[in-house]
Amino acid sequence: MIGSRQQHDAALPPGTTGVIRIDLDRLAANWRVLTALGRPAECAAVVKADAYGLGAIRCIPALATAGCGTFFVARLEEAIEVRALAPDAVIYVLDGLLPGAEHVYARIRARPVLSSLEEVLAFAAFGRATGSRPAAALHICSGLNRLGLPETDVLTLSQEPGRLAQIDLQLIMSHLASADAGDDPRNAQQLATFQSLRSKLPVAPASLAASDGMMLGPAYYCDLTRPGYALYGGQPSGSLRTPVDPVVTVHARVLQVRDIAVGASVGYSGIWTAARPSRIATIAAGYADGIPRSGSAPNGCENGAVAFSGILAPVVGRVSMDLITIDVTDLEPETCQPGDWAELIGPTITLEEAGRRAGTIGYEILTRLSRRFYRMYSGGG
Ligand SMILES: *Cc1c(COP(=O)(O)O)cnc(C)c1O
Repeated sequence: MIGSRQQHDAALPPGTTGVIRIDLDRLAANWRVLTALGRPAECAAVVKADAYGLGAIRCIPALATAGCGTFFVARLEEAIEVRALAPDAVIYVLDGLLPGAEHVYARIRARPVLSSLEEVLAFAAFGRATGSRPAAALHICSGLNRLGLPETDVLTLSQEPGRLAQIDLQLIMSHLASADAGDDPRNAQQLATFQSLRSKLPVAPASLAASDGMMLGPAYYCDLTRPGYALYGGQPSGSLRTPVDPVVTVHARVLQVRDIAVGASVGYSGIWTAARPSRIATIAAGYADGIPRSGSAPNGCENGAVAFSGILAPVVGRVSMDLITIDVTDLEPETCQPGDWAELIGPTITLEEAGRRAGTIGYEILTRLSRRFYRMYSGGG
């Protein structure tokens, strides 16, 4: 149990000051829950950015063992790693086709998510040159205006279907802009645009929903859902609870606890000054560990916090590179001693709350947790 210094230390390398615990059974269970929710659509797993920072090398085998057969990554390099971990899986690369990368796709049997007319032409040319009909997805833009073919290019393809003839079109996908707000009318508009553009193209399975899109209901499931964040226990929707359980906890160690007098300031630039005799705990986690500096206090809004035995304690002063300082004056002295562990993410401080307190989102908190944290896995059979 967290909070008991002795028991805790045995499992960790000596000198460890920060731990991310990842429950691979929960990860697999979340994939099963999302699969059941989206049925009969297939549920893929988005594992970009090293499985949202949790370690592709452990998360991908756990998901594959649970039955996940389709993975999405952002970068081609990430696809190379997924292929080594999941020899039989279907792999899509959201970045699409960069010049000269065709051969890599062929070698690792990954599929580019083609995002422009140029990419379609280049991949078709590669098919002709190699006497193959390489598999790919087509990304069409339904309103996000980030990646994907705009309507005019979809119309070009519908008028000149020969351009797609050399490509084995396995998926047509688009991405929602406002799915975290269930009542936003732009969701239904994007769904209608997607269905209308899709109908102009050769028949292929469709995919629209990421984690938050899955909370918008069955119309959005199409043939394949693409959750990432929710698999890792995140709550992507602003209003609705996603039926997943937390996968991650993050703890960092108290290095020192000190008493300071009224008027003493704490940390760089002395932005926080004690208004009462105070007890300050210094914790071994800073912005180099992925703790946002915007969680410094005071900063004009809600500030960062940690928890001891389920009780919140606020960050005071600047978040520095390796350390944060916490006001523990209101805690029982026994709850916060040198060597104890502070909860940064866990049952008391969710990913969402940690994000909100730093003026960002849980996604950014999760994906920025640095290599300096020791990653400890449980489950995963
Ligand atoms: C990252 C991403 C996803 C997964 O999003 P989550 O919100 O983490 O579920 C799905 N589709 C695309 C195109 C993405 O970029």
